[in-house]
Amino acid sequence: MCGIVCYIGKKPEKILIEKLKRLEYRGYDSAGIAVKSDKGFDIFKAKGEIKNLESKVKEIDNSYLGIGHTRWATHGKPDEANAHPHISTDKKWVIVHNGIIENYSSLRDKLIGFGYEFYSETDTEIIAKLLQYYDNGNALETIRQTISVLKGSFALGIMKQDVDGIFFAKSKSPLFISKNEENVMVASDIICFKNFGDTFYQLSDGVFGFASSKKIEFYDKFGSVNIKEEKLDLNEMDDENKYEHFMLKEIYETKPAIKNISEFYSKQRLLEIFENLNVKNIRKIKLVGCGTAYHAALMGADMIEKATDIDCEVVVASEFRYSEPRIGEDTIVILISQSGETADTLAAFELAKQKGAITIGIINIEYSALAKKVDYLLPIKAGVEVAVASTKAYSAQLLVLYLLSQALGNKVKNSEIDLSTVKTLINDFDYGTTKELQDLAEYLRYNDKLFMIGRGKDYFTALEASLKIKETSYINSDTYYAGELKHGFLALIEEDTFVIVFATDKKLIDKTISNAEEARARGAKIILFTPFDIDKGITDKFFKVFKVKKTDDRLQCIENITMWQLIAYYISVNKGINPDKPRNLAKSVTVE
Ligand code: GLU
Repeated sequence: MCGIVCYIGKKPEKILIEKLKRLEYRGYDSAGIAVKSDKGFDIFKAKGEIKNLESKVKEIDNSYLGIGHTRWATHGKPDEANAHPHISTDKKWVIVHNGIIENYSSLRDKLIGFGYEFYSETDTEIIAKLLQYYDNGNALETIRQTISVLKGSFALGIMKQDVDGIFFAKSKSPLFISKNEENVMVASDIICFKNFGDTFYQLSDGVFGFASSKKIEFYDKFGSVNIKEEKLDLNEMDDENKYEHFMLKEIYETKPAIKNISEFYSKQRLLEIFENLNVKNIRKIKLVGCGTAYHAALMGADMIEKATDIDCEVVVASEFRYSEPRIGEDTIVILISQSGETADTLAAFELAKQKGAITIGIINIEYSALAKKVDYLLPIKAGVEVAVASTKAYSAQLLVLYLLSQALGNKVKNSEIDLSTVKTLINDFDYGTTKELQDLAEYLRYNDKLFMIGRGKDYFTALEASLKIKETSYINSDTYYAGELKHGFLALIEEDTFVIVFATDKKLIDKTISNAEEARARGAKIILFTPFDIDKGITDKFFKVFKVKKTDDRLQCIENITMWQLIAYYISVNKGINPDKPRNLAKSVTVE
């Protein structure tokens, strides 16, 4: 969510725009840069896309330093006044900020009491004003004092009028630094360092510091700190896109991701990862995630409960902390996050740790804050995901959750780790027929509401399919357990309402079809999604029977969702929406 990039080197205005484009995937609604030259600061801001900013930015003579930002508005509407960078009243401090300052209102009142005036509605502006307020001539000391009064989350890039370098600070929002022979870059994702440096530093919470072309210094509130320089390895990051959209590219990367996972997680590796895990006292398992990761958690709970006979509970990450969960040393908490920077999931982790639970992370970005903190990390090996709506990462999460269920089953019940299912999935894997998917998308695009129903794990698939359609097509797609129809939802059915029925579990299919009949009898148009052959007498009554390839029951959920991701993609494109950047949404949600 939002992006920061700062650069020390010639022509920063050019580099900043180029690198901000790399951060676009995170989601934003305005952008801006501030550039320093021997004449002082030049600030450019624009609402909307980076190309709006680009058209405003002028080349600056002798520019050598700059900070840039894509803003995903949290406080104040997305307009130019609220766009970053923000500046102090005395014009000495210019800053970009990612995150939320929770106590901004009381700080703002105090500053107003001291005579400060505000030109924006943002929480960020108070930081620029505080820097001026605490300014005692020593910039690092001023920053230390300023951040000590901030509550909430922040990654900061800061320039000061009389200093040739960039100051930075981090708490709960990601921030990284890289350098090459002469230049330095500070950014909220290491993806910016591609073709720039060979190494990078990852800042921990509470760290602040200063970078110039000669040195980089790190501090925390106790004094100077050392941060390990890490090797930059972006090889697996294929961010070239030969498809029309990243969403389509990423859906078609599901099969390669499945292969990656199967190569990485041998039986041996699964045993080794959990070699020291003591499950003797484990009484419960909690799975935590947001959005798509929450849906993966629902599916994972089913897999793990069946493999271990230990009770599993799934909790939305934003609720976890406030639900006073009864967890302790007898609990495993499994945290699922594509980015590993999801603020709510990180907060859930902190609570789990504090209560003594064992933590397992199912994460895509291996250098993320969460990946570095969990006791056991299971990377999902899906490669970079740029489109806001998660697709291949969801399928990869499901597969890794399955592998985790096998590893835990082995630890708890001494059962064999079964990887034959993964091989079958790779052999069976099928994206469906494009024409058929496009035709279905064309039927569905004209509806402002859709209903999806299913039983058991099909209900979880329906939840995720619904979410994809909501995110990328803005259609209100609602999901119900099929058995719940007559307990209320039937009242919503009108003549020609589309009801999509997920029936991919043999044990439940007859019951589910009966529910579909109930809806049809009230005028619904039924689209049945199933791998099984259904009697013609039944299917003739339905609007469409839509076939999915059958694979092992435990991994059928991966086969099922891929086609719905594609349908959501085609509906979105048919409606003229950019599926990669749905309105109001951001890729990595780094604020609560
Ligand atoms: N809270 C700040 C604002 O609304 C920063 C948001 C962001 O991270 O982009 O301006």
